[in-house]
Amino acid sequence: MPLENMKSMLKKASEQKYGVGAFNILDYNSTKAVVSAAEKLNAPVIIQTSTKTVIYWGTKAIMNWVLELAGESIVPVALHLDHCKDISLIEDCINAGWTSVMIDASSKPFEENLSLSRQVIDMARPEDITVEVELGAIVGVEDDIHVKEQDSHLVNIEQALEMCNTLQPDCFAPAVGTAHGIYKGTPKIAYDLLEEITSKIDIPLALHGGTGLSVEVFKKCIALGCAKVNISTQLKYAFIDGFVSYHNAHNTEYNPLKELDSQFRALEDAVIENIKIFGSEGKA
Ligand SMILES: [Zn+2]
Repeated sequence: MPLENMKSMLKKASEQKYGVGAFNILDYNSTKAVVSAAEKLNAPVIIQTSTKTVIYWGTKAIMNWVLELAGESIVPVALHLDHCKDISLIEDCINAGWTSVMIDASSKPFEENLSLSRQVIDMARPEDITVEVELGAIVGVEDDIHVKEQDSHLVNIEQALEMCNTLQPDCFAPAVGTAHGIYKGTPKIAYDLLEEITSKIDIPLALHGGTGLSVEVFKKCIALGCAKVNISTQLKYAFIDGFVSYHNAHNTEYNPLKELDSQFRALEDAVIENIKIFGSEGKA
């Protein structure tokens, strides 16, 4: 089937209380691993690109991989632009065929965040492209967005309601205590905030900073309305460790296809593990 946007997959996930995995890809091999894992488990999946990855390869190359690997896929696949602050890059992705984008204006004052997010929704909606917006500051480093722990703040509930009610985004990413990167201690998730948002707003939520959360935390957040679950850091580790571990064990071979195959398997295993935890297996 052709690429989908996130709307119907997140709606179904919200209703049935499971999470659709949004997995950050880096190249052809990692895209192939994400699609292959989703097909093995008959799960809907979101292929996610960081702005850095888009800038590194260009939109055309990425679109070619995704269309080749997922265009004929038996499972629903969306192509989503993660955390983007740059409206012109969002426009490039929309023109190139991305089916979903995230505008991250969360570092701006609230009114400016609203206005930039509205600008993207106005641009995307006529093209049937879904939009994720963010409010609050999710700690850690994602692309060039650095949020120090002392600057992190949980989403303000009044602003969250106002943002969702006025913009009606397709997906809402509230800062609820998760972090990008590797957790130094046990994350404190504001379940009460998630619960309050979900009780008042009928919009699927995105859980950022998925890497390192326990199975129990994932399940609780998904039950409280997180229909999209982002995994990036874990895949960065699998990407490098999968490649390096083969080379270290066979360091005289220099047969790069073996390293690539080992990398593929590490990535595919990681995606399979997450899809099973999120409960989206068999939900294609
Ligand atoms: Zn994120």
